[in-house]
Amino acid sequence: MTWSARQSAMLDAMGLRLWQHLPVDAQPALGVGRTGPAAPDAMAPPARRLEASAQAAVAKRAEQPLPSAPAGAAVDASGLDWTALRDAVVNCTACKLCENRTQTVFGVGNERAHWMVVGEAPGEQEDLHGEPFVGAAGRLLDNMLRAVGLTRSEAPPEHSVYIANTLKCRPPRNRNPEPEELVRCEPFLLRQIELVRPRIILAMGRFAVQSLLRSSEPIGRLRGRVHQYHGVPLIVTYHPAYLLRNLTDKARAWEDLCLAMDTLQNHVMKAP
Ligand code: URA
Repeated sequence: MTWSARQSAMLDAMGLRLWQHLPVDAQPALGVGRTGPAAPDAMAPPARRLEASAQAAVAKRAEQPLPSAPAGAAVDASGLDWTALRDAVVNCTACKLCENRTQTVFGVGNERAHWMVVGEAPGEQEDLHGEPFVGAAGRLLDNMLRAVGLTRSEAPPEHSVYIANTLKCRPPRNRNPEPEELVRCEPFLLRQIELVRPRIILAMGRFAVQSLLRSSEPIGRLRGRVHQYHGVPLIVTYHPAYLLRNLTDKARAWEDLCLAMDTLQNHVMKAP
């Protein structure tokens, strides 16, 4: 795979130094061709490794079915169109997070996007602006997406992402979402996915994974293969806020994006 000047600039913005990126005589020093684990700031050419992993993984893992919401879950978003769904979120009082929100944070992007990103919950900036991922983590996310030619702004579906969170309201002091909050809010996310009908989903961080895959396994154990969410390929990756604190895992996040691209181009688009 060769990176365009634009992609190289974006990889720089992500803080990634890739083999392709460097002068040819610098590559061996970074361990290209090594068989052991990648050096933290260097990666083997993604295409080589993607081929095997994508082929091996697509459609091989049947994920557990979604359990039904517990009795008393107030939200029924089934069948709602975008307008009704937005209204239902704005007016939601299904859990105590409604008491302290400035506003709900619904989602952003092309409603016909081929890509869907699922994050965790609004933070302070998102609560103020009413849009997912507008703080520091959001800037990193935008850079990562731009590196593979994607945007949350207006663009054709194949270059677009729709971004949504598992929770539509900010947990106080950015604490972790509670299980009941995730369950109560889940119908909104499910309906968003049904309406967007993405061709690939990126689940970022453990709460997105918990909601969509019903798995509490660590991200490190779930990433690197293609999961399925109701027939849509789903790639697990690190949350951008985590990547801001753990720079060495940015290279793995880049691998995850490459796996997603490869899955979309070589498996989903070519499916009969
Ligand atoms: N983190 C998330 O998961 N979502 C946001 O919208 C912001 C930060």
